[in-house]
Amino acid sequence: MAEPIRIVTDSMMGLKLPDYARLSARVATVLGHNPGPFTGPGTNTYLVGTGKRPLLLDTGVGVPKWSELLPRGLNELCGSERPERVVVTHAHQDHIGGMKDVTRLFGDLPVLKRPWPTAGPDNAAGVPITAIDHDTVVETEGATLRAVFTPGHAPDHLCYYLAEEKALFTGDVILGAGTTVIPDQTGDLGQYMDSLRRLLALDVEKIYPAHGPVIPDAKRKISEYIQHRELRERQVLGALQDGPLEVARIVEKIYVDVPQFLHAAAAQSVRAHLRKLANERRVVEDGGRWSRV
Ligand SMILES: [Zn+2]
Repeated sequence: MAEPIRIVTDSMMGLKLPDYARLSARVATVLGHNPGPFTGPGTNTYLVGTGKRPLLLDTGVGVPKWSELLPRGLNELCGSERPERVVVTHAHQDHIGGMKDVTRLFGDLPVLKRPWPTAGPDNAAGVPITAIDHDTVVETEGATLRAVFTPGHAPDHLCYYLAEEKALFTGDVILGAGTTVIPDQTGDLGQYMDSLRRLLALDVEKIYPAHGPVIPDAKRKISEYIQHRELRERQVLGALQDGPLEVARIVEKIYVDVPQFLHAAAAQSVRAHLRKLANERRVVEDGGRWSRV
């Protein structure tokens, strides 16, 4: 049977989410309002816990609309005036950019994340970071989060497992629609695949992603993400079977169903695959053209 062109078929295009909403007894969300082709309606920031001082998980990119919605969401969804602590998945701007608003609104709060390997990205938060790592447990009233180190999309990335719901806050590792970006400079597809397999091994039923809607069948989505990248890898190798090619030619061969304006993003994905395959000594590059070993 012929292989499909792609495994993940949905996308962020046209998705809408409410300004804020209660998702379960211990999870509520406030929309970051930073829409785009890869952020969907914007970053989901989460309020976690059943008490008057829930955890705030991620802060969006830092737009006025979010800083208006956050106190309202806290009050209406949690009967709260102030979060207890801030927990961060990773130091990309659309996750830490709202920190300055958090400080302005609520004063200094502890901010927990795994440090980025170099100083710059964490400094952009503008607040001191309390370093946590894989397996760190963060507790609040009614909720227990355990950090799961998941590099690949970003070198500092932590997902958080919510024990009470067998649920996972996946940040940008798994999205509610479409697939995630593996950035050229700081991403690593080999690590990302290992991270997906680490998540699949968890006793997880539901995913709260950083972008897009809640995913009710976690195992299925994680498996789909793994299969999607495995298919892409076969496609990249297949594109090279008749001889060396530049990245742009590989994109044209594989992404026949993708509009031209997304080809730059597709090229980034192809480069991520080529770097992984080069690390595994299965392809080599010579003067911008890639060939199989
Ligand atoms: Zn990110």
